[in-house]
Amino acid sequence: MTATLAIGPYNEAERPPLKDSFDAQLIAGPADIAGIDAGLRDAFRAVAYKGHHPFGAAEMDLLPNIGLIANYGVGYDAIDVAAASARGIRVTNTPDVLNDDVADLAIAMWLQQGREMRQAETWLRDGKWESVGSVPLNRKLSGGTAGIMGLGRIGRDIADRLAAFKMDIHYHARSEKQTPGWTYHADPVDLAQAVDFLFVALVGGPETENYVSKEVIAALGPRGVVINISRGSCIDEGALLDALESGAIAGAGLDVFVGEPKVDPRFLKLDNVALQPHQGSGTVETRAAMAKLQRDNIAAHLAGTALLTPVN
Ligand code: NAP
Repeated sequence: MTATLAIGPYNEAERPPLKDSFDAQLIAGPADIAGIDAGLRDAFRAVAYKGHHPFGAAEMDLLPNIGLIANYGVGYDAIDVAAASARGIRVTNTPDVLNDDVADLAIAMWLQQGREMRQAETWLRDGKWESVGSVPLNRKLSGGTAGIMGLGRIGRDIADRLAAFKMDIHYHARSEKQTPGWTYHADPVDLAQAVDFLFVALVGGPETENYVSKEVIAALGPRGVVINISRGSCIDEGALLDALESGAIAGAGLDVFVGEPKVDPRFLKLDNVALQPHQGSGTVETRAAMAKLQRDNIAAHLAGTALLTPVN
C-alpha cells in the first residue's frame, strides 16, 4: 500500500518519479484529501506538497499517521508549521537549488523595467523605427543604488549580481551580515530612503505581511522602483498601486501577487511595470532539482535517516 500522498499541481515530468520512487497517490489539492477512503488515509506516512493553497491543522488531522510534509519550494508559508510541529510532523523545503534562477529573474525584471525592452521591441515590430525614428530614451541602471529587503539565500544572490553591475548595495534583514562594502539598515524606511531600486527577497507569511509598507514605498521617492520575487503578501499592494499610478514611484517588477494567479487589473493598465506569472524558479533544470530534493527528503523520512533540509 502506498505510503506517500502527493498533493498539488504536479506536471507531466514530475509525476512519474513520484510514482516510481514511492508509488505515490496523486491528488490536485488539499480539498481532495477528505475524498480519500479513511483506511487509505491512515496508511500515508508522508506528504509531497506542492502549491500555495493553505495546508493547516484540519488537513493534517485527516492524515493521522504522516510524519513528514515535504514541500516543493523554499517558501513554505502555505503550510502551518506550528500545527505540524504540535502533531510531531516534520516539514522540509527545497532551499538553495533555486537561488540562481530567482535571482536571474529579479535582475531580468529590473533590466526590463529600466531599459524598456518590451516597449522598444514593440516599437521595432510596429515599424516605428523606420517610420518615426529612434525609440524614446530610457534609464541608466548600472552604477546606481540598490537595496535588498531580506538578505537571505536569494537576496544575497541578487546582491552579488547587482555588485557586478557596479551598484552601491544596501540591505535590511533581522540581523546585520558580514558583507564588507554593503550598508546595513536596521529600519526598512531608512533602506528605502537610501536607494532607487528596492529588491524584495523576504520570507512570506504573517510576520512579513505588508512589510514593504506605504511608508517604505513613499520613502523610495519618484525615481524609486520595487522588484519583488518573494511573496505578494510582503508588499502593501494597494499602496504600491496608488504610488505607481500617481508617479510617487517610478515603477515595479513583480513576479508575485496578492491573491495570485488572479492579478489586480490595475496593474495591467500600467506601462511602468514588468509583470511575471510567478515563474522565478521556473526552469526545467531547477524544477527537476527541486523535485529531486523533495523526493530525497521523503526517502530519508521513510528510511528513518536524517532529513536533508528540515524546517522544524
Ligand atoms: P531565506 O534565506 O530564509 O531569507 C529570507 C530573508 O527574510 C532573510 O534575510 C531574513 O532575515 C528575512 N526575514 C525573515 N523573517 C523576517 C522578519 N520577520 N522580518 C524581517 N526580515 C525577515 O529565504 P530564501 O531562500 O532567500 O527565500 C526567500 C523567499 O523567496 C521565500 O521564502 C519565497 O517566499 C520566495 N521565493 C520566491 C520564488 C519565486 O518563484 N518567485 C522562488 C523561491 C522563493 P535574516 O537574514 O535576518 O534571518
